[in-house]
Amino acid sequence: MPSDRYKFCNHRFVEIDNYGERLIGCVEGNRWTWRASKQPIELPEDDLKALKESRKEAALGGSS
Ligand SMILES: [Zn+2]
Repeated sequence: MPSDRYKFCNHRFVEIDNYGERLIGCVEGNRWTWRASKQPIELPEDDLKALKESRKEAALGGSS
């Protein structure tokens, strides 16, 4: 079983910085884990939206 697949879905892991806390999980599924919690968490809609936007910009901006 590939270790980079999140167990709740088949999307790839991404690592994000959420107010200084490192979260690992899935943008599409909105399921996140972090080192202090064994249970997955969901991000608020606004945070998720901002995250998607920033990732889109990063992808477009790329390696300027
Ligand atoms: Zn997913």
